[in-house]
Amino acid sequence: MKIHGLQKMTLLDFPGRVACTVFLGGCDYRCPFCHNFELVDGTAPAIMDDGELLSFLRKRQGLLDGVAITGGEPCLHDGLPDLLARIRELGFATKLDTNGCHPRMLERLLSEQLVDYVAMDVKNSPEKYARTAGVEHVDLDAIAESIRLIMDGAPDYEFRTTVVHELHEADDFHAMGKMIAGAKAYFLQSFTDRDTVPFAGLSAPSADDLAAYAGIARLYVPNTQVRGVD
Ligand code: SF4
Repeated sequence: MKIHGLQKMTLLDFPGRVACTVFLGGCDYRCPFCHNFELVDGTAPAIMDDGELLSFLRKRQGLLDGVAITGGEPCLHDGLPDLLARIRELGFATKLDTNGCHPRMLERLLSEQLVDYVAMDVKNSPEKYARTAGVEHVDLDAIAESIRLIMDGAPDYEFRTTVVHELHEADDFHAMGKMIAGAKAYFLQSFTDRDTVPFAGLSAPSADDLAAYAGIARLYVPNTQVRGVD
């Protein structure tokens, strides 16, 4: 499997762990606010293969205790279960970032106990989901199934939404709150603009709006927190 990026150490990407972050290429979505679009559109070259990643991890045993797998969308890759199994054999805890499009892969990863922590994006209310993901159509049943699988079966997890001024309003947080009602943790992350973001002209919500949205979300998920930037 091709690896498209590696952050060798992070205290932020995997809660409670000293981790590295592994970036895989490709994604089903084209979110206009994406921070990793060079991975999504295939312009980022591979930097190593899975064998080289495992060699790196062997040298980090005892120094790191977690590996976060992100993208892009990691669940697009058929080799993901094998990669996670080999990472866990080396003694690392594993975290998966996912957009929730692939419940069958998620179900397999959870049933085979290959992930310790799942972070799933909830992009927007059902009415605005496809527009927010930058695609014509989103299978909302797949999203709902992924949410259920995570809430029922992930050892630890969070849902998260990147909040964009032009894409989100108060009603959306009622709708998203209902989608994940009763979840263990929900994070609202303020959008930050970058040169590499695919759609120019998007902006962060105001601090007041973000606080108000978190207040709405807490009606459904009491442990809703605002996180700095993603
Ligand atoms: S799902 Fe994530 S990686 Fe894919 S386009 Fe959206 S923000 Fe980027």
